[in-house]
Amino acid sequence: MTTKEFGILIVGVGGLGVPAAWALARDGARRLTIVDPDPIDLSNLARQVIFTTHDIGTPKVVAAARWLTTRFPDCTVEPHAIALDFSNALRLIALHDFVIDATDSPVAKFLINDTCIAARKPFVYGGVIGMTGQAMSVIPGATACLRCIFEDAPDETEVASCREAGILGPVAGAIGAMQASEAMRALRAEKLELYGKILTYDAAGVARVRIRPVSPRPGCGCGASRSRPSQTLPDAP
Ligand SMILES: [Zn+2]
Repeated sequence: MTTKEFGILIVGVGGLGVPAAWALARDGARRLTIVDPDPIDLSNLARQVIFTTHDIGTPKVVAAARWLTTRFPDCTVEPHAIALDFSNALRLIALHDFVIDATDSPVAKFLINDTCIAARKPFVYGGVIGMTGQAMSVIPGATACLRCIFEDAPDETEVASCREAGILGPVAGAIGAMQASEAMRALRAEKLELYGKILTYDAAGVARVRIRPVSPRPGCGCGASRSRPSQTLPDAP
């Protein structure tokens, strides 16, 4: 497979997905697929800076694809105005070489995790709550997955309280750009920066970035083993 055909799937075109897609198109990615069921709302405009008031009501994926391909005509952007769910996740993920989790839903995050593990596709998790963001790359069978760390999705009450906390735009922008950087490393067959590590960016007070190693959890069904420290990107199909 040539670099030109490397396909990147971005799930979620919001605070994380917009900066990630922009960075990827700018940095030379040539095949992006973007998935998000929602139309643009006035409340999105502060964080999702490629959208304007003229786009309100338009599906995010349609407006984002138009914006990206106008500025980066060498980049093909395939929009899907749907929610990733159990009926379509495996088919969509299997068609790509790398996946960016830019969702804000724990259920979607665990679906991406489990489907990427099953399809043996590397992906980068991203999440932002308030002024704190996190990112971690997962190479199925080689590094810790989301379930190695969190085991199960948090309950709905916890999720609702996190949503009420809102997210800070620049933190989402930094995490989205970090996710794009991981995807570009995969595209270039370079070692991922956040492989076996979780990055936390805390913008409260004096901004801090911490990176700590994460180990596979014995008993997790993802098949990663503590005894396999080296990066093993799956072969391109
Ligand atoms: Zn695991």
